[in-house]
Amino acid sequence: MNTQAETPDHWMRVNPRPNLRMVRGEGSYLWDAHGKRYLDFIQGWAVNCLGHSPEPVRAAITRQLEAVMNVGPALYNAPALELVTELARRSGLDRAFLGNSGAEANEGAVKLARKWGQRHRPGAYEVITTLDSFHGRTLAMTCATGKAGWEDAYPPRVEGFPKVSYGDVDAAARAISPRTVALLVEPIQGEAGAVTPPRGYLTALRKLCDDRGILLMLDEVQTGVYRTGPAFACQEEDVLPDVMTLGKGLGGGLPISAVLARESACSFQDGDHGSTFGGNAVCSAAALAVLTELAKPEVREQREASARYLAAALQRLAERHDASLRGRGHLWGMVLPSDRAPEIRDRAFDAGLLVNAARPNVLRFMPALNVAHAQIDEMVDLLSRVMRD
Ligand code: PMP
Repeated sequence: MNTQAETPDHWMRVNPRPNLRMVRGEGSYLWDAHGKRYLDFIQGWAVNCLGHSPEPVRAAITRQLEAVMNVGPALYNAPALELVTELARRSGLDRAFLGNSGAEANEGAVKLARKWGQRHRPGAYEVITTLDSFHGRTLAMTCATGKAGWEDAYPPRVEGFPKVSYGDVDAAARAISPRTVALLVEPIQGEAGAVTPPRGYLTALRKLCDDRGILLMLDEVQTGVYRTGPAFACQEEDVLPDVMTLGKGLGGGLPISAVLARESACSFQDGDHGSTFGGNAVCSAAALAVLTELAKPEVREQREASARYLAAALQRLAERHDASLRGRGHLWGMVLPSDRAPEIRDRAFDAGLLVNAARPNVLRFMPALNVAHAQIDEMVDLLSRVMRD
């Protein structure tokens, strides 16, 4: 991959990209305009949970396009109502607000927490987040995110996001003060390269938040919608947060996100929050199709078998290259013994495989949840060759 490729005229550059156009996708494969095929273990950045252009999503949005696309945020539409009901049923939370992106969902969650603080903890507004976390790129979320230097990238800072080490319950406990309204954490830190906390972390945070009278908010934008196994990663530990955010996989490729909350955390009054495109009928229909498909017993069995096969295949590959593996389900980080991840990513691209270099020494894998055994074998073959070279 030529990451120094020139940026096309009129394109506002924000990141390096190969100067190529992708023109078609089907399942785990993507094709560029020259007809070259890529095996896709990035999938729109952990978005296309059923692969590229999956039939159930295409069918649902085609039906919806013909019925009505968008009635706006001051009227209800059928798929959005069905979607919030389905999200509440699967999560155990009471209500959902629908938005368009992960960052927007997290913004909504922080606004909700501050509103809740105004009512229940006068003077409190801080949301504790973790080092190396990722919560999005809006002005507030760059400050909530725990990447080095991000808080001061666009001064003045949005205040109110103290940071603590990830996986460290005592550090979180020490950071709570009368100013704290909530903790906001990812069940697995996706952008950091699938960093997995010690077992029991979420359970301990749940107890801590209960004891100290603050909200537990989980950013499941990357881990949610079956990416790590269960519908939501917190269900692995049977933890019910007060607030949960979703995005990415929810729309199966279309932009939709959600803030889910317990009734007791729902503190917005009329006019406090909104979003023009939030809960539009087409993206809601896509999300409903995704949830319906992923809950089918045969799809569930295939997904679980695929996750087991992927874990075993990556483990063998890691062992052969003195690397270690972390993650769950269909979200994995391979920690290499040296900073070769960008080079491997670029060579894999040339060989027709899309993988992400989450860190200089970490390769990240986030394939479709229905990726086939044969495609996992193909990925391992391609990557072994690249890594050996
Ligand atoms: N939270 C997490 C955990 C994420 O991984 C991401 C995106 N990588 C976001 C929030 C932001 O989502 P979006 O890009 O849709 O705003």
